[in-house]
Amino acid sequence: MGSTRARTFARISSVEQPPSKPKQLDTAVVLGGSVAGLMAARVLADHAHSVVVIERDEASDDAPRRGVPHGTQLHTLLPGGRRQIDRWFPRFTEEALAAGAVWASAEQRSTYIDGVRKVRGSDADIITATRPFIEGQLRRRLLAVPNVKTITGRATGLTFDDSAVTAVRYESGGTAGVEPASFVVDAMGRSSRLSDWLEAGGWDRPPMIRQVTGINYATALFCRTPEPAERTASFALCSTEFGGDLAGAVFFAVENDRWMVMMGGYGDLRPGRTAEDMIRRCRADFPADFGRVVANGIIGEVLTYRQADSRRREFAAAANLPARLVAVGDAVASFNPIYGQGMSSAALHASCLSMFLRSDPALYAPAQHFFDLQRVVVDAAWSVSAGPATAGRRDRVTSWLTRQIVDATVVDTKVARVFEDVTHMVRHPDHLAAPAVLRRLLSAQRRRRPAPTAPMRSL
Ligand SMILES: Cc1cc2nc3c(=O)[nH]c(=O)nc-3n(C[C@H](O)[C@H](O)[C@H](O)COP(=O)(O)OP(=O)(O)OC[C@H]3O[C@@H](n4cnc5c(N)ncnc54)[C@H](O)[C@@H]3O)c2cc1C
Repeated sequence: MGSTRARTFARISSVEQPPSKPKQLDTAVVLGGSVAGLMAARVLADHAHSVVVIERDEASDDAPRRGVPHGTQLHTLLPGGRRQIDRWFPRFTEEALAAGAVWASAEQRSTYIDGVRKVRGSDADIITATRPFIEGQLRRRLLAVPNVKTITGRATGLTFDDSAVTAVRYESGGTAGVEPASFVVDAMGRSSRLSDWLEAGGWDRPPMIRQVTGINYATALFCRTPEPAERTASFALCSTEFGGDLAGAVFFAVENDRWMVMMGGYGDLRPGRTAEDMIRRCRADFPADFGRVVANGIIGEVLTYRQADSRRREFAAAANLPARLVAVGDAVASFNPIYGQGMSSAALHASCLSMFLRSDPALYAPAQHFFDLQRVVVDAAWSVSAGPATAGRRDRVTSWLTRQIVDATVVDTKVARVFEDVTHMVRHPDHLAAPAVLRRLLSAQRRRRPAPTAPMRSL
């Protein structure tokens, strides 16, 4: 595929270990110690003599924490993101599996659209685990890097000189502190206050784009007795045409012999909010495996979460930004979570940061090259999950094709493979517009769609 952005995406997604390079930064400070902050800190450790991560929560041992309220909900680590994590933390997958994460090979997972089982697409394996477990594994690996330290504290502002950020202000245990910084990364999530701080300092506030999603999540854990060759992950997605109040349901086997089951709905529709409703729906509205995973009893209660919108901050379009400052992860773009792109985007942003710092950038100027690279990743995820509403014409075409292709993925293995590579963030969405895909799309449209799997019915 020849598009420039597809080639840039491929370069960002490389799994090669870059050669070592003399460190050009003194102290780099990362604000926020969740997935995006941990990944950025790992990359910065190659370029700064010391890296300081300021996180307001105490490090919790694989348990949900206050600063990440969505951490209780089911999280998919897409292959595109996992490859980047393995790149920056070699053998991460191996270690996560040894610590309890579960393998879901292509044979061990299934995907349904409106009750119809899709043909097998990508051969990529995924690992399944809870969000706090994944973050805990990343944190352990990061803290083993000698030039990284953490401060438990709340970042309260930035200090600038005429052209660049120079320090971070924070508050820890009731005491105010200042950390001098030769580079700062905002990883404070979607509610980051960086834009306010920039405006207060006389810089541009990056334009914010929002798209209403109003998605409601309900997630619960169930007891699991592992069985040989069982299905360890299943995705059942429901189109709006299918009717009913469901966006979809997913189950994963996760660490400590548990199943995690999630149900989602849009707007006022909140399926699966009680244990009774979730169990009933798993038995009545979804393929038989969903009934099986809820058979051995719930652990705790159903936990819910609502996300009102997808949002992105257009740093690449801001004309007046200080030098030595970037933002990563949800602080830049947070997507409709049903597509599972957040952690993988954060990992790819870290790879953009590596490319930027390896390009011998002029550190007295804004990090435009970084934001341009990052925009390729953000646009790719956005075009898949947020649809055409805010995208350019070319992206609208890609989004339209995506909708057509979803139907073809049910019956055509080659289309299914490209589509999954794109939704797994392994390949850029422009690959969906390749002539070979379009030809197969036409022939797939003539094929008969199989009947929905029992007991799934039109709701
Ligand atoms: C319901 C739901 C389901 C999701 N499912 C998936 C999925 O399946 N797959 C996937 O990849 N992604 C998923 N995501 C997205 C994913 O959770 C995030 O994209 C990912 O965690 C990266 O987040 P982040 O590190 O940028 O920000 P966050 O995880 O939000 O972390 C921000 C961090 O900054 C800290 N912080 C904030 N302010 C300050 C401050 N002033 N000082 C110091 N620290 C501060 C917070 O305590 C927190 O630790 C989902 C999101 C939601 C809401």
